[in-house]
Parts: sequence; structure tokens; C-alpha cells
Amino acid sequence: MNIGYSIKRLNDVVRALLMQRKQNRLISGTRQDLQDYQQQNLSALVAYSVRNSPFYRELYGNIQSDKFLLTDLPVTNKSMMMDNFDQFVTDPRLKLTELQEHIRTLTTDEYYLGEYRVTATSGSSGLKGIFVSSRKEWSTALTAYLRCGSYMGLTPRLPKRRKISTIGADSPIHVSYRMAISSDIGLMKTQRLDATLGIEQQCAALNSFQPEFLSAYPSIASLLAREQLEGRLSINPQVISTFGEVCTGEMKRNIQEAWGIEPFNSYGMTEAGIVLGSDCSCHQGIHVFEDLFILEVVDQQNRPVPDGTPGHKLLITNLFNVTQPIIRYEISDLITLSPEPCPCGRPFRLVSRIDGRSDDIIYLDNQRGGKLPVHPVHFYTAMGTFQEIKLYQVIHGDNGLQIRIVVRESASGQEVAARLKQCLESSLKALGAQPPKIVVEIIDRFDRDPRLMGKMKLVTSLCGSSSLR
Ligand SMILES: [Zn+2]
Repeated sequence: MNIGYSIKRLNDVVRALLMQRKQNRLISGTRQDLQDYQQQNLSALVAYSVRNSPFYRELYGNIQSDKFLLTDLPVTNKSMMMDNFDQFVTDPRLKLTELQEHIRTLTTDEYYLGEYRVTATSGSSGLKGIFVSSRKEWSTALTAYLRCGSYMGLTPRLPKRRKISTIGADSPIHVSYRMAISSDIGLMKTQRLDATLGIEQQCAALNSFQPEFLSAYPSIASLLAREQLEGRLSINPQVISTFGEVCTGEMKRNIQEAWGIEPFNSYGMTEAGIVLGSDCSCHQGIHVFEDLFILEVVDQQNRPVPDGTPGHKLLITNLFNVTQPIIRYEISDLITLSPEPCPCGRPFRLVSRIDGRSDDIIYLDNQRGGKLPVHPVHFYTAMGTFQEIKLYQVIHGDNGLQIRIVVRESASGQEVAARLKQCLESSLKALGAQPPKIVVEIIDRFDRDPRLMGKMKLVTSLCGSSSLR
């Protein structure tokens, strides 16, 4: 990378630091101030989109940019965006085929047309989403990333720089990796490990680096916690944060047992430019950064669900990206908003639960006929009662439920498998389902798929559910 790139990147980081100061003034205001700010930004975003995006101009028809409610706007989704990409974006120079080629040849943090960063969503199959941010938009996303760090007490320290280990995606097409390299201006000493590395290699690297701050997918942090408790890992991080996957109660307990600290959890997605929110030190849930995003938790028909009730999906509005407007865009995450404010006094609402995606709901035969939806949380709870299981995966296919487990060295795999099968059969019966055939397979380790950024999906349904609903 040349000097021109380094200066541009530094400017992007400095811009984010300046923006952060401005944001702090708003964050210390009231909830009403925040809502007024949201409406102002939403109106500007809609007006800009109608002027510059042929897709939105047609979609919004005669909606007047200063006289509408958010709920007046039609819902959008990934296929609408990707099928109409060249009309969806607001810069006519951005063409999907050329962006896909840019993504394919990306080696590090290159700018596209000298002013955009392009990232893609992960996925082993199906439609990939492509996302474009201008330099200013990237700086704004970076403020959310820095805010997470400040919630966790992660401020720069000199001359002895803080040591941070991150275990996650290892490719510049993924926003988390890209954000990390684009913001690394040497204020922290960083170690980045690929999530697809084996646990032994991760332990060896961490033992030698000795991080003060560890950030990892919760399934990895939980496995590392077991390694620490069993003596193969010996590190003493003061802060642990998890991201990218569902963090179950069992994973949290493992981390607490190993290091005596409560992990922070953040919530992010490529569609949001990276981070939507994070825990504060009260650990009451994830604060949604509502000065940057609007989140609507809704049912299958896009009607809002009451606070404290899990939604079927999420509609997200990104208030700062005008290059590729994301307005009431469907995400299939199963989210619950807390009815209570956080004791820390911040005006941002709390997400009290994230339970995976609505595509992970498993539809089983109902004892009274028809189909019964079984929420992934049912499996997290049942599996969490088995202390002997280090990691698991539940896959629902045409032949029933296949459960893959890694058990602790001290446990008898066969005995655990038999008890688990019995436990699941009786808990599914108690729910009112006709338990399908359950096969428990004992394995040594899970191989993580780089196409999924090395993430683990605990519960997966391979059966098309839409025809069953
Ligand atoms: Zn708080």
C-alpha cells in the first residue's frame, strides 16, 4: 500500500474521532432529542434517496419527504436490492458486475474508485449481499466500532500499548476484518487470528501473545474457556467481548468460570456498516446505537411486537449511508427489545435477547396435527444443561434431527449421547411435538467454514419451512 493510501486511511480515522466528539453531545441528551435527531436524518435520507436512486424514486412514488412516518415506507429486502442493484445505489458509477469483480480481486483495504470501500455478506450458498460505503460513511461506521471499545473501557494507553487479540474472519471482503485493518493506526498492539484455525493453534498463539483484551465468536471464547480451565491455555484478559454468533447462557458461564469476568457482547451486521450496538458495563443487554440506526422488531406481517416479546424479524434503517440506502430492510434475526431502560442512563434502548435467525426455527409434526414451530432457544436451553458437552450443532433434515457433539475428555461420549437423545425426546414431547428420529454423533472437533467467516451455527434447518407455515 502506498503513501497516498496511508494518508487517506489516517484521514478516515481522524474524521471518525472528530465525529465521535460531536456524537457524545447528542448521546448525553434526552430520548426526545434522540428521536427528533432520528426523524431529521430519516427525512434527509429519504429525500436524498428519492432524488438519486431510481429504485427508491419508483418505490416511494408520491411520498413527500417531509410529511411521512417511518411506517408509511414500504419494506425492502436483499433480493429487491440485489436484483436492482445499479438502480438501488445513488452513484450511477457503481455497477454490480464491476463491484463483484473488485471484491473478487481484493487483497487488503483497497478503495474502489479512490473513494469507496466494498464488502460482502458471508454465505456458503444463495445470494450474497454487496455493500458500498463512501469514506465519510466508513468513518461514521468506525465511530460505532470505537464506541463499542469505549463501552468496554478500551481506551488507548501509551507508551505501553494495550494488547488485543481478535479471533474472527480473515478476509478483506468481510466488514469486521476490514474495519479492524482500516482503523489500526498503531495505538494498540494487535493480534488477529483466523477463526478457522484449530483450537490448539489458537491456544499457542494466545499463550505467547498474552492479550489484555480478547474478542472472539462466543463459541470460540467458550472453547478457549474450557482450555483455560483444563490448563492448556494460560492467559489473563481483563476484558472479553463476543460478537458474530448467538452467545448462549452456557457459553457466558464458561467464560465467567475461566476468567471471573462477565463478557461484553456486541451486535453487528454488514448491512449496518458493522456494529449496531454493544453492552455497557451494566450488562443488561445490548444498547442499540439509535443515533445511527432505527431498529423495528416486527412479526411475520411487519407489525411491531410489544417490548419483551421476541420478533420474527427485524427492519433496519441505516441513517448514515446515502450511497446504498438501507431503509426498513428485512433481516431475519430473532430479537427481543427490553421494556426497561438501562441503569447507566444512556438514552439508547436495550436488546435483551438475540436468538439466531427465523430461518433457524425448526418445524416438527404437531401431536394434534399440522406443524409446530420449535424455536432455536429450546435447543440452547436443553443442550446447556449438559456440562459434558463442549460444543454442539443441531441440524434438522428430511431424516430427522442430527445432533453433533464434542464432549469433554473426562466424559463418556456414548453415555452422554444416550442421555441427550432421551432428554430431547421428552422435552420435544412436552412442547407438543412428535419427536422425529434423533441421531447423536460424537465428533472430535468442528471444522469451521471460511465461507461463513468461521462462524458456528448452533441450530440449522435444512427443510424449507415456508410451505409448512
Ligand atoms: Zn447501559
